[in-house]
Amino acid sequence: MQQYILQIIYLIGSVTFILGLKYLGNPSTARKGNLIAAFGMGLAIFGTIFLYTDSNGEHLGNLGFIFGALLVGTVVGWLAAKKVQMTAMPEMVSLFNGMGGACAMLISIIEFRHLTSTHTADAMADGVNFFSQIPKGFLFTIIIGMVIGSVSFSGSMIAWGKLSGNVKDKSFGKQQFINIGLLAVILGLAYWDIMGESANTITIFYAILALSLLYGILFVLPIGGADMPVVISLLNSFTGVAAACGGFLYDNKVMLVGGILVGSAGTLLTIVMCNAMNRSLLNVLIGNFGGGSAAASGASAGATGTIKEVTASDAAILMKYAKKVVIVPGYGLAVAQAQHVVHDLELLLESEGVEVKYAIHPVAGRMPGHMNVLLAESNVAYDKLVEMEEINAEFSTTDVVLVVGANDVVNPAAKTDPSSPIYGMPILDVENAHHVIVNKRSMKAGYAGIENELFYKPKTSMLFGDAKKALNELVSEIKALG
Ligand code: NDP
Repeated sequence: MQQYILQIIYLIGSVTFILGLKYLGNPSTARKGNLIAAFGMGLAIFGTIFLYTDSNGEHLGNLGFIFGALLVGTVVGWLAAKKVQMTAMPEMVSLFNGMGGACAMLISIIEFRHLTSTHTADAMADGVNFFSQIPKGFLFTIIIGMVIGSVSFSGSMIAWGKLSGNVKDKSFGKQQFINIGLLAVILGLAYWDIMGESANTITIFYAILALSLLYGILFVLPIGGADMPVVISLLNSFTGVAAACGGFLYDNKVMLVGGILVGSAGTLLTIVMCNAMNRSLLNVLIGNFGGGSAAASGASAGATGTIKEVTASDAAILMKYAKKVVIVPGYGLAVAQAQHVVHDLELLLESEGVEVKYAIHPVAGRMPGHMNVLLAESNVAYDKLVEMEEINAEFSTTDVVLVVGANDVVNPAAKTDPSSPIYGMPILDVENAHHVIVNKRSMKAGYAGIENELFYKPKTSMLFGDAKKALNELVSEIKALG
């Protein structure tokens, strides 16, 4: 009876994940979606702890360890999520994704040890190579879950380091070939182990583990420029697939559904990100490596000349008397926590009869959907956020574009400089507007590490300063104009 109740709980859990995902599709319902899915996950966890029985009818043991781990995980996760700055959110997402990969890796290691400790001695005594007796599908699931989980874990740790600025892009000669060779070795060893043809199956298993961890590091380390969004969503889908392998191992439906949902959502996001960057996945992974090299390449060519500075009061006049203003938010807006004051500016301009919209680039900020989340936090109406394809057609009829802490997503090098690492990436065509005001603190480059020609264009004026301070000044100046 308990098993039937548990299956129903798993069904409810799976439905909540699907509903949660559906609600996450819109900022106004996203919080509800998150809570619904979290409730389903909680139900599945406690259902398993209290109702699961094995083939001998035994309930789960080690409850002290289980509840201890739950307590530690909950406290650490809760505090981390409460304390995290909005700007550090992408790093935290990467870190949590890595933890998911690590869990899948550990599940595989534990199940492998379980297999070997319970059976090898008997089989060896009978003179049988035990591994040749294990169903290949079972061993396949263990090994593939471990490989994907380890790559996701170590890769996410590197992504975390890169997003927080502690790890720099690093590539060395022939890295593509080394990575491809390493992957081939991992797959070859995995095949050998699964077929049970070696007497050293246990050693090979741990060699695969070490090489997979190494592969995760080497795979993410050289990817730079503006390609990190693709890698982040790809690692996310890896974690989902690795978790789904755990679902197969334990014949656990809710784990399987959860893993497949994360895996497929991550894959779709990867495709969307690739489209947004106008790159093929293969090109991102083994093609044009390196933001580090990009910064040193000819990417900055042409980005010279004189810049024109504007004061807050002049910018205020331009904006107050404009018919249409488009605001381009970027990573700097998040750093400055200027999402509330940018909303105040929008409302003020609208009260003056100015039409205001926000131009959203798909990779602006440091995580997919970063700008949407940030602006939703300050209650900017969702219909004011206009996607790149749509807003690009509107710039020619826009009087003033206000770029706030964005750089790479408005860099014309993506269209004009074939040597640039962002060449081919669709950008916001702000230079088609009548005036462009760019707010940032200095002339420093953005994430891709390349100069931006836009800042030197005759139509562009630079409004230097921290975004929050500059926008506050703009608001005061517009009010002062009466
Ligand atoms: P960028 O990182 O290109 O530029 C941000 C700019 O903001 C910087 O040039 C900086 O200049 C300025 N800035 C920083 N702090 C402040 C502040 N307090 N006030 C005002 N300005 C500030 O950002 P974009 O959003 O244009 O582009 C995102 C980049 O990040 C792309 O290259 C993208 O590929 C990459 N990326 C995106 C991810 C995603 O999923 N969205 C994930 C990982 C990477 P200054 O220092 O002079 O102020």
